[in-house]
Amino acid sequence: MHVPPIPHLTTADPELAALVESEAQRQHDVLRMIASENYVSPAVLEATGSVLTNKYSEGYPGRRYYEGQQFIDQIEQLAIDRAKALFGVDHANVQPYSGSPANLAVYLAFAQPGDPVMGMALPMGGHLTHGWSVSATGTWFRPVRYEVRRSDGRVDLDQVRDLARRERPKIIFAGGTAIPRTIDFPAFAEIAREIGAVLVADIAHIAGLIAGGAHPSPVGYADVITTTTHKTLRGPRGAMIMTTAEYAKAIDKAVFPGLQGGPHNHTTAGIAVALREASQDSFRRYAHQIVANAKALAAALTEQGFDLVTGGTDNHLILVDLTSKGIGGKPVAKALDRAGIETNYNTVPYDTRKPFDPSGLRLGTPALTTRGLTEEQMPQIAAWISAAVDAAAKADESTLDTIAAQVRELLAGYPMPGWEPTPR
Ligand SMILES: *Cc1c(COP(=O)(O)O)cnc(C)c1O
Repeated sequence: MHVPPIPHLTTADPELAALVESEAQRQHDVLRMIASENYVSPAVLEATGSVLTNKYSEGYPGRRYYEGQQFIDQIEQLAIDRAKALFGVDHANVQPYSGSPANLAVYLAFAQPGDPVMGMALPMGGHLTHGWSVSATGTWFRPVRYEVRRSDGRVDLDQVRDLARRERPKIIFAGGTAIPRTIDFPAFAEIAREIGAVLVADIAHIAGLIAGGAHPSPVGYADVITTTTHKTLRGPRGAMIMTTAEYAKAIDKAVFPGLQGGPHNHTTAGIAVALREASQDSFRRYAHQIVANAKALAAALTEQGFDLVTGGTDNHLILVDLTSKGIGGKPVAKALDRAGIETNYNTVPYDTRKPFDPSGLRLGTPALTTRGLTEEQMPQIAAWISAAVDAAAKADESTLDTIAAQVRELLAGYPMPGWEPTPR
């Protein structure tokens, strides 16, 4: 059953409650390896499910447009103070509704429509909101896109510098959604400083690793740091923008009233709880375990004959290039889903296949590390993935079902925050 329990929902809307229970059990029974996902704690669930959702509070603590902010102000201030302390930043805005609106606020603060803006190309591992063409950020602004080297799959900082000097972007984004390697924030900072661009570190994927000391911090290098709160940071769906003192006002103005109305106070509370959790020693161990698990899994996959983009990983994420296996990412992701291993198909740099059926499979270890899995289980997971790829090629569904049962059996020994078996 769901934890915390949902008796009122079950009475008021049994149809919806049954779906919530089913999803909770599904999350318990499968290996969740989508690199951007995680399990939040029951404490975060309780905060986000609270009466704070009832309150409007446009503005910022101490400067609101509605009355009755005696406690909301304290809640938002707590989240702000914890973000500042955890990441060591001058200023934090905890109001963006999610990562994409947070990035949009950055554009609003520092660029005019038509201005050049620079980010990593989406098929190379960037994010839609870093100026990709189907995103508003790629149509309202003039995107300049950097890539990774064909030879080793890593960001080509010489290309970044050359492009920056030539195109003079107002904003440079460092970060992305499929980058298996450490991001060189000092190098990006040097380039941004040379041309007078605002450097934005989008740490959505790695915020938890940074908080836990398992990835270098962009603080001291980036002018602005945007992040989601629901990936490795293990908080509710939401976002934060952290800045130096110099950029604080511009960002606050861009978020509200520039882009948003009232902040989602229940989410703010959940963020505050997650930030407290992330400041504890156990979270440092968690962050390092995520990376240890990813490295162990990368080694085991390599042993199984898989090609990995960049040859491995420094963080929580592995990008498998299935080209040598003679199968696309989509049939593999679908087969793995049937086998109880949840992943997503993904482009690989210089992909020769189409975006809807690319050559890559993206894997991440944040969620399975939250369940308590360690290096010990990674060879087994790599073997399951290998067997599922073979089964996908042969449309062998019974093998996939056998793996799903084995996955369920393994995970029965690793409790999930948010669900527990119904007592008999
Ligand atoms: C996930 C992500 C985002 C967007 O976050 P949403 O909450 O999905 O809008 C932005 N940038 C990067 C690098 C991300 O990984």
